[in-house]
Amino acid sequence: MRLAIESVKQAAKNLPATSLRILLENTAGMGTALGARLEELGEMLNALQGLQVGACLDTAHLFAAGYDIKSETGLASTLELIDRVIGLERVPVFHVNDSKIPLGGHVDRHEHIGKGKIGAQAFQRFLTHPRLSAAAPEGLPGRAFLAETPIDDPGDDRRNVAALWEFAGLKDQTPVSEKGFSMLTAAAKKKVAQQVKSRKSASQATRRKMRATVAAAGRGGRSARPSKKSSAKPKKRRRRG
Ligand SMILES: [Zn+2]
Repeated sequence: MRLAIESVKQAAKNLPATSLRILLENTAGMGTALGARLEELGEMLNALQGLQVGACLDTAHLFAAGYDIKSETGLASTLELIDRVIGLERVPVFHVNDSKIPLGGHVDRHEHIGKGKIGAQAFQRFLTHPRLSAAAPEGLPGRAFLAETPIDDPGDDRRNVAALWEFAGLKDQTPVSEKGFSMLTAAAKKKVAQQVKSRKSASQATRRKMRATVAAAGRGGRSARPSKKSSAKPKKRRRRG
C-alpha cells in the first residue's frame, strides 16, 4: 500500500494546487488489487492528506467486493461505513454499473443498469437516496453519476443512461437523445466482431502449433515442454473501469 501511495504522490508532484483533484476508485478485489475494502481506501486517502484527493465509488465493484448494496439494510450499512471511514463529502463521483458477478464474487464485470445481480430495485433505492443526491442539504452539490456499462448493441449506452434517469425518478426531465445516438454503430459492431473472430482463429492456430510441438517432442523422447515462442499466450484485451 505504501508503494501505491508513493506513486500517487509522485504523479501529483508538479500539479498546480488548484486545478485537479485525484479520485481513488474502489476495486472489486480481484487477485491482489488494493482498495476493495472501504477501510483501506479511507486509509489511502488519509495518507494522501495535503493533496486534493477524494474517492470515486463504483457500485459494481462495491457489490463484487462483498458490500450488499442490493438490499435496503445492506445499502444502509454500506453508506454508514462509507461515511465513517471515507466521508460521503469526499465522494464527488459514483460509477453506476450493474454487476455480472454475484455479491462477494471479487471479479470486475459490468452489466447493463438493472439487468445484473444488483438489479433495478436496488438502483432505484440507490439513485433516490438523499445522502447520495447531488443536492444540499443531505447530498453533495455537483456530485456526478457516470455509467461504464457495456455497449453490446448500438443504443445500449442510450438505454442505460435513460434507465438511470428513470430509476432516479427523473424520467420526465431526461434529455432527449440525439436521433438514436449511440457510441456504437451497426457497422462498427460488425468490424469488432470480425476482429474478434480473426483473433480467435489466430490463437487456435497457436494452440494447434503448440500441440504439434508437444507431440513431436514426445516422439523424439525429449522434454515435452513447448518452445518459448509457441507458448506465448495471445494477449487478452479487456477494458476495466
Ligand atoms: Zn469504475
